[in-house]
Amino acid sequence: MNNKKTLIKAGTIITQDEKQNIFQHTDLLITGDQITAIGKNITVDDAEVIDASEMIVMPGLIDTHRHVWESVLRGAAANFSLIEYLQQVLGTLAPAFRAEDVYTANLLGALEALENGITTVMDWSHIMNSPAHADAAINGLKDAGIRAVFGYGTPGTSVWEWFYESPRPHPLDIERILKEHFNSTDQLVTPALAIRGPEYSLFDVAKQDIELARKYELPISMHAGCGTFADKYKAVQQLAIANLLGPDMNFAHCNLLISDDFKLLADNGCSVSVTPEVEMQMGLGFPATGKAIAAGIAPALGVDVVTGVGGDLFTQMRVALQTERSLVNQQSLDAGEMPQTTSLTAADALSWATSNGAKALKLDKKTGSLIPGKQADLILLRTDLLNITPVFGNPVNALVSQCSSANIDSVFVAGKALKRAGKLLHPDLQALRSAAKRTSTYVYEKALIAGIHSG
Ligand SMILES: [Zn+2]
Repeated sequence: MNNKKTLIKAGTIITQDEKQNIFQHTDLLITGDQITAIGKNITVDDAEVIDASEMIVMPGLIDTHRHVWESVLRGAAANFSLIEYLQQVLGTLAPAFRAEDVYTANLLGALEALENGITTVMDWSHIMNSPAHADAAINGLKDAGIRAVFGYGTPGTSVWEWFYESPRPHPLDIERILKEHFNSTDQLVTPALAIRGPEYSLFDVAKQDIELARKYELPISMHAGCGTFADKYKAVQQLAIANLLGPDMNFAHCNLLISDDFKLLADNGCSVSVTPEVEMQMGLGFPATGKAIAAGIAPALGVDVVTGVGGDLFTQMRVALQTERSLVNQQSLDAGEMPQTTSLTAADALSWATSNGAKALKLDKKTGSLIPGKQADLILLRTDLLNITPVFGNPVNALVSQCSSANIDSVFVAGKALKRAGKLLHPDLQALRSAAKRTSTYVYEKALIAGIHSG
């Protein structure tokens, strides 16, 4: 057993615990994979000591919805609507992926997430073109060292067959995958089923897919409320009528769901993942942050696709927060009045990206806050950079409104340092960069889609 000790000294500790405690000039001790103490002047003989007197110590960020395999297609969908994205990225590029491309993409995408302070990612993996693709996706996540929920999805071989009112049930390779990759519950990567749900498959298929997940006690994630699909398929109401909603379900986007839908999700303990920037770009509707909160649901955040947007959650926190504020402000403006206050707070946004994310992924016993006994998933942010100098009052306000990934000095997952002094510790990033370029070139050439770069 690993009992290595790391003592982080004199930091500003943002715990994200139930009371939202913030401790100044306080130490945090990591022993093995756990946080074992938080307090003043902790002394340990045999620990590596990190001076955090100019740092914020906080839980690692949690991305609850990302298609990690798209990392090698970075920027490809920067100007795409959902319809264009479905046709070009899923319809044209995804079929070209070989298993080794998925490995490179997932390793790159997971390391990028770590670089950005994301210690847990839900990988919604709809690139399961063969069993070898599934193995490659899982191995990419594992080799990166990130905590991940691997959402086993459908093949990317034909978006038309798999995502347009698809009559095809979820592949059954999940049984083999569980045996070969997930025979222990005590590992950083855990399984889930990433199903299409009633907006992308026939309802009977969605029902069958949900039953498949429940047979293996897997968490379920699906997209819902995406633009006009919300009203067309009424996914949540249909699932409720069929008595299929449950606390094992996560719904991504939810933009155009109605308040009755959110009430159903709340009553059934479902979680909601908001990916604000992609949703606004691709025409899914305004982010559902406020509607989820109004129904009593604690929203979580996601990047969704780096084909469209950047891979960091600082941006998503700010986009979600300011969009929701703007929607509320507009109500006053429409009534001919100046808004007198702002809705929501920076602390709310930080919860979306940390503790709420852990709850949404059912990982809150392990991660999402800094409490002794939990896994040591945490990040250190430099406060000596000019973008956060000086900090008066609550450091969360400055953190959420000002910080970027440039502030991230260190990243720990389960007590293991994966980034230190601003640099990822992965042994061969140069080789990874070369592999990513080769993969990207191969996929674009194979897909023969001239002009997609400038699309
Ligand atoms: Zn998605």
